[in-house]
Amino acid sequence: GNFPGDESGELTPRQTPGVMYAKVLPSKVKSPQLIAWSDELAQEIGIEKPMDNLEIAMLAGNHLNPTMQPYAANYAGHQFGNWAGQLGDGRAITLGEWKAPNSKSWELQLKGAGLTPYSRGADGRAVLRSSVREYLMSEAMHHLGIPTTRALSLVTTGDNVLRDMFYNGNAAYEPGAIVLRAAPSFLRFGSFEMPASRKEVENLKNLVEWTIQQHYPHIKGDDSIIRWFMEIQERTADMIVEWMRVGFVHGVMNTDNMSILGLTIDYGPYSFLDDYDNNFTPNTTDLPGRRYAFGNQPAVAHWNLGCLANALVPLFEKTDELEKALRAYKPLYLKKYFEMMADKLGLDEVREGDKKLILEIEEMLNELSPDMTIFYQLLIDLDVELASEEEAYVHFSDSFYDKPSKAGVSKLFETLQKYIQRLKTNQCDRAVSIKKMKAANPRFILRNYLLHQAIEELEQGTNTLFKELQAALKEPYTDRFDKFFAKRPDWAGKKAGCSMLSCSS
Ligand code: AMP
Ligand code: MG
Ligand code: MG
Repeated sequence: GNFPGDESGELTPRQTPGVMYAKVLPSKVKSPQLIAWSDELAQEIGIEKPMDNLEIAMLAGNHLNPTMQPYAANYAGHQFGNWAGQLGDGRAITLGEWKAPNSKSWELQLKGAGLTPYSRGADGRAVLRSSVREYLMSEAMHHLGIPTTRALSLVTTGDNVLRDMFYNGNAAYEPGAIVLRAAPSFLRFGSFEMPASRKEVENLKNLVEWTIQQHYPHIKGDDSIIRWFMEIQERTADMIVEWMRVGFVHGVMNTDNMSILGLTIDYGPYSFLDDYDNNFTPNTTDLPGRRYAFGNQPAVAHWNLGCLANALVPLFEKTDELEKALRAYKPLYLKKYFEMMADKLGLDEVREGDKKLILEIEEMLNELSPDMTIFYQLLIDLDVELASEEEAYVHFSDSFYDKPSKAGVSKLFETLQKYIQRLKTNQCDRAVSIKKMKAANPRFILRNYLLHQAIEELEQGTNTLFKELQAALKEPYTDRFDKFFAKRPDWAGKKAGCSMLSCSS
C-alpha cells in the first residue's frame, strides 16, 4: 500500500505520529547458521531451500535482495487490559511481500532482526529458546488444522543475547536466533488502534480499506466496514474454538497479538494443557490475575474485539451497528463451540439437551483434571456397555495425574453414563462417530516439557529430539509417534518450570 512511513532509517526509540511504519534495516549478526527449514511451506510459497552462505545470510538479515524494502510496522495495543500506547514492532522486520506460484501474497518477516524505533529499551533480538518455540509451534498448529502464521526458517546468529532466564530469574547469555515467519499479513487489532488513538482518521480509513481490498476482497459496498468487522469476529471465534479443541493456551492475548485475519500469532509463553484446568495460564506475568487462562480465552477475545470496535468508531456515524455486532459474539462463539464439542465427543449433532451434557463433561474434566489429550483418546475407545465406577476409573486411569477421590470417580461414572446414553441415540453408526472423534482429537501435542528438552539438547549441539518433534507435529492425529503419547512426567510438573514461562524471550 501507499502509506505514510518514517523513511529516516533512524533507530532512536521514539513515537512516530502520522506514520504506519518505519523503514529500518536488519542489524548484522555474527555467523548465521541454518537450524531448520520448513519444506512444505517453502514449496507452497515457492521459495527454494538456501544452498549457500549468501542465501542463509538472507534468512538472518545479513544480506538483502534489491527488491526487499524492510520496515517495522507501527502498532499499539492493550496489554493485560490496559492501554499501552505504541508498542511495535520492536524486533520483527518485514522484508516485503512475496507472491507465491498460486498468486497468493505472503508477508515475510524476520523476528529478532535487531533494533527498530519501537524497541523501547529492549534489544530487538530473540533467543534460540523462544525462536524454537515459535518455529515448532506455528508449524504444529498448522498441522493441527488451526489458523496460524507460519515459520519458514530458523537460524542461529552466532551472537549471545542477554536474558533473564524464566526458571531462576537470573540474567544469563543465551544463543541468539532469528525466525523467518510468513503470513498473508501480520496486521493486528493494535495496527488499527494505533492511528485511531492518534486521531489519524485518514490513515485509519486507508488502512481499513486497504485491508478489506487485499485480504477480504469479497466484501464490497457501502456497509463493507461493518461486514468486515463481523467477519473478523467470526474468524476470531473460529480460532478460539480451535484453541479450546486442542487445549492450547496462548498466554499473551494482548490486542497487539490478535491477528486481523484470525490467525494464531506471536508464540510466546504458550502451552497446551496437560492436566485439564480452566484456570491454567502458562504465563508467569499473568499471575495472579490469570486473565489469559485457558477458560478465559473466549471472553478475552470478545474484550479484544471490543477494543477493535472502539478503534473503528471514527469510521461510523453512529455506534449502534458496532454495538449490535459485538453483542452477536457470544451466541456466535457458543454455537461454534458446541458444534466443535459434539465432534470431539462423537455426537451426530448438537441437540438442545446436549449443551447441558457438554458443560457437565467440561465441569467433570475441570474437577478431576485428567490429561486432556489422553482423556479424549481413551474416550474414543470407551466401551459403551460400561458397567461400574471401577471400570470407568480403570479405563481412564492412565490419564490421571492424581488419583481421583471416591466422589470424583462417582462423578466420572455418572457423567459417562449420561454420555453413553446420548451416544446410543446417535443417528449415525458408531464407526462414523469414532471417525469424527479421531479427526477432532489430536493424539500428539507439542507439550512444553518436550520443547524444553529439545531446546536444552539444541543448546548442547544435538538436534535429535528437535527432528523427532518436527516429524511428529506433522501427524498429530495418528499413532505413529506414540512414543510421545504419555502424561507430562513428574520432573516437569507444574511447578518445575516447564509449564510456566514469562513474556521475556
Ligand atoms: P509481546 O508480549 O511478545 O507481544 O511483545 C510486545 C512488544 O514488545 C512487541 O510488539 C515488541 O515490539 C516488543 N518486544 C518484545 N521483545 C522485544 C525485544 N527483545 N526487543 C525489542 N522489542 C521487543
Ligand atoms: Mg507481540
Ligand atoms: Mg512475543
